[in-house]
Amino acid sequence: MPEKVVIIGSGPAGWTAAIYAARANLQPLVYEGSATWDQNRVNGTTPLGQLNLTTEVENFPGWPFVDSAALAQFSRSALPDDRYGNLAHFHSGKRAHTGKRAAFGPELMEFMRQQAVNFGTRIVTDDIVKVDFKKHPFVLHSREGESVESQAVIVATGARANYLGLPSEDKYKNNGVSACAVCDGALPRFKNKPLVVVGGGDSAVEEGTYLTKFASTVYLVHRRDELRASKIMQDRALSNPKITMKWNRVVDEVIGTEADGVTSVRLKSTVDDRTEELDAGGMFVAIGHTPNTDFLEGALALDDKGFIKWTRPQRCWTSVEGVFSAGDVSDSYYKQAVTAAGTGCMAALDAERWLAEKGYH
Ligand code: NAP
Repeated sequence: MPEKVVIIGSGPAGWTAAIYAARANLQPLVYEGSATWDQNRVNGTTPLGQLNLTTEVENFPGWPFVDSAALAQFSRSALPDDRYGNLAHFHSGKRAHTGKRAAFGPELMEFMRQQAVNFGTRIVTDDIVKVDFKKHPFVLHSREGESVESQAVIVATGARANYLGLPSEDKYKNNGVSACAVCDGALPRFKNKPLVVVGGGDSAVEEGTYLTKFASTVYLVHRRDELRASKIMQDRALSNPKITMKWNRVVDEVIGTEADGVTSVRLKSTVDDRTEELDAGGMFVAIGHTPNTDFLEGALALDDKGFIKWTRPQRCWTSVEGVFSAGDVSDSYYKQAVTAAGTGCMAALDAERWLAEKGYH
């Protein structure tokens, strides 16, 4: 018997879709991806999505600051031992956290996963590497050589932030290097420090402007002498006294220590041989995102930036009837955990209604 709905991906969109699909009696099957597949580790596409790679999540509604010990108790009560084990380092041992804080990304993701499990979601810890959407029921092939048939599919494989690719950048990820100012900018480590933002698009300009609320100064490092960002956003940034433009520069190296994280950033010119070192307590990379769509091999229509196209206004329908998409894999614009969760809900409702219309459910 084919599945009613298979969900590919395990970020906020995937789990929210699973919660809704499970509660609609669709017995969803989630392919959550594999943490041990090297390609996932290198790309930053391991299970539980981008939030699993972040620290505190202060902007997810319903999660105000809470005492660390209370969160530990909550985790203990909400999760089975094996999943609690993934979070234990936050709560006990040398690196345990104390005082009030927001939930960490990995905590929120474990809670979402558990919520989906509680309503009967089945999970496979494997990656879908090939799809056949020409046949119906659709056929999905996993990396471990399994195949599964499904009447409906929800693709929620997310996107990954682009990084510069410097070893020193990788070394300080989550220790002063971030790809999300909205997520991390307000953390105490960045307060009143000079910060570097890399990029020249709307994200870089918006994130640079946002960071001026916390930073002593923001250096906006762009590889050309002209911003790509929209005029209004440029004007706002260029007239902000806390923003200093570093035109025609790229980052050469991120410098820091294990204990303090990032302490400075070395830039090099794109027009001559000059280099300079800026004192900086953090570096925010805003050079775009890459949606995780390689495994589709053209099976769904993509937009001009490579994100899965929604083919009906306000709906999560894709170019193939019965295949829906949710979250950052279809969103080059908002890119927030809460919007991903919202579209996960929409995709599950769309799938449920489509299955009912077709008589599959
Ligand atoms: P983007 O428009 O693709 O801009 C990426 C920027 O990063 C470009 O300036 C690019 O330089 C630079 N870049 C790319 N690779 C680089 C590298 N390896 N080293 C150094 N610099 C590099 O991406 P985005 O800013 O994330 O925006 C994505 C979309 O979301 C856009 O459509 C944007 O309008 C939208 N958005 C809108 C808002 C808003 O309206 N409030 C806010 C954020 C995003 P070049 O310019 O030289 O190519």
